[in-house]
Amino acid sequence: MANERGFMELPFVAETHESVATRITHFNEFIATLSDAEAVQQASRCMDCGIPFCQNRCPLHNDMPDFNKMVAQGRWAEAYQTLISTNDFPEITGRICPALCQESCCLGLYQPKEVGIKSIERKIVEYAYANGLVPSLPPQERTGKSVAIVGSGPAALACAIRLNRLGVTVCVYEKMDKIGGLLRYGIPDFKLSKEVLDRKIKQMAAEGVIFKTSTLVLATKDAAPNLEAGIHSDHKAVVSLAELKEQYDAVVLAVGSETPRDLKIPGRELNGIHFALDFLIAQNKENQGQSLNPIEVKGKKVVVIGGGETASDCIGVAIRKGAAQVTQVDYHEELPETVKVREVWPNARHIKHTSTSQEEGCTRLFATNTTAFVAHPEHPERVGSITTVQVKWGPKRKITPLKGTEGSLEADLVLIAMGYSHPSQQAFEQAQLDKDERLNFKAALSGSHAFQSSDPQVFVTGDCRKGQSLVVYALAEGRDCAQSVYQQLQALPCKSA
Ligand SMILES: Cc1cc2nc3c(=O)[nH]c(=O)nc-3n(C[C@H](O)[C@H](O)[C@H](O)COP(=O)(O)OP(=O)(O)OC[C@H]3O[C@@H](n4cnc5c(N)ncnc54)[C@H](O)[C@@H]3O)c2cc1C
Ligand code: SF4
Repeated sequence: MANERGFMELPFVAETHESVATRITHFNEFIATLSDAEAVQQASRCMDCGIPFCQNRCPLHNDMPDFNKMVAQGRWAEAYQTLISTNDFPEITGRICPALCQESCCLGLYQPKEVGIKSIERKIVEYAYANGLVPSLPPQERTGKSVAIVGSGPAALACAIRLNRLGVTVCVYEKMDKIGGLLRYGIPDFKLSKEVLDRKIKQMAAEGVIFKTSTLVLATKDAAPNLEAGIHSDHKAVVSLAELKEQYDAVVLAVGSETPRDLKIPGRELNGIHFALDFLIAQNKENQGQSLNPIEVKGKKVVVIGGGETASDCIGVAIRKGAAQVTQVDYHEELPETVKVREVWPNARHIKHTSTSQEEGCTRLFATNTTAFVAHPEHPERVGSITTVQVKWGPKRKITPLKGTEGSLEADLVLIAMGYSHPSQQAFEQAQLDKDERLNFKAALSGSHAFQSSDPQVFVTGDCRKGQSLVVYALAEGRDCAQSVYQQLQALPCKSA
């Protein structure tokens, strides 16, 4: 504990946010990294608890008490080493992790605000980059083993960086034209700058990770490469899983959970109804100087259906693109603004969260189900409104429509952001890997065969195993998967890659 009275005397330091009026004029990040002094103050609030619940709650088990103490004492290089001993991507989690750890921080039991762990994490890594403290860590020697990783989201990147540093030759295959998975194509630039991602990918490439983009991997090459509606691909080449198994000692599938949940209600065929990622990916590409986003929202009444991060991201992008009005239709009930922290700590607080995008000006409708898309009276080929009904939630997540609450809402454009159910079934159907009841690839999370699928040469990790989740879980799975693959490869003779 660097400051024995810090937790009593020092107030929480919030990261500075650009005003709404300014930030909606651009797509750049609008949250500033803490200054050195702010970070020292924030870290000095840490109580160095005997049982650090924050560390337990973080899927990566970051060592917050230690790196907080080091920051509070100005020991930045040690803080960076401590942070990256558990998390290879703090520049990502420091920006877009929902900071599960902070709900478990003991200080939150006594003070209105816990320790701002996420902001310290971001500060440590940005300080390290700015001060030349980020070393390149290519392996000292190669093991002769090789692994193909399919997908390049956080699970794949976490697996690749680890395996490569352990001396395994790693080649990442990605169907999109750039590396990053949802970090690149999905999450808007104002939450995560693609320069931050590129800086890391450059470092990984310099350490020896091989990246192959625009390459779709399918169970067999004969399988027609038509993926489910709503799944995007920029592939120019197709490689089969069988070829990868032939060429590499092991294959890791980190292909995400890309199949979007659809809303199959009357009027779904009308123009002007899009999956969220059609809109978000196109905007990421436009921001990168590629083709313009064909989904035009300027001056339109936009309805976003769904309640999670994806919906929030659609709201923020639509506002920046000049939508006349944005309404979010969420069938979940509105949660209370606060809970008694002592009654739920150290677990999740089920309270109403307002994202920075929602702050930027959207109307939120709760406990509202969309029942039909209705054609525009003058343009019958496209959507003009939606019909809705209020719902009540009952036991076993049963929702009951409430009579007399039917309504309608003007909608020039609808974005469906209702989540993702499982990885593409088309792509890997013929691989005949065991799946769980939700159609994710089946593999144990621990034990001597952790992450191994029903095909012993194929490992699965991230959202394609766990189901749609969070970046921090994907990073944790990717890292643990690397360890499991590495251990299991030790027993095998080498193949040349
Ligand atoms: C819009 C949106 C916003 C989100 N915001 C947040 C957030 O703010 N914070 C947070 O913690 N989480 C967020 N999430 C969730 C988070 O992004 C995911 O949980 C995480 O990216 C999953 O990582 P992954 O590596 O398993 O898969 P993904 O990131 O989905 O990456 C999978 C990759 O595999 C590639 N691929 C798939 N099939 C093939 C194939 N056959 N051949 C070659 N390549 C293939 C895909 O193109 C993709 O690049 C968000 C999700 C969405 C959709
Ligand atoms: S990765 Fe997320 S949960 Fe873990 S310490 Fe960082 S902000 Fe907290």
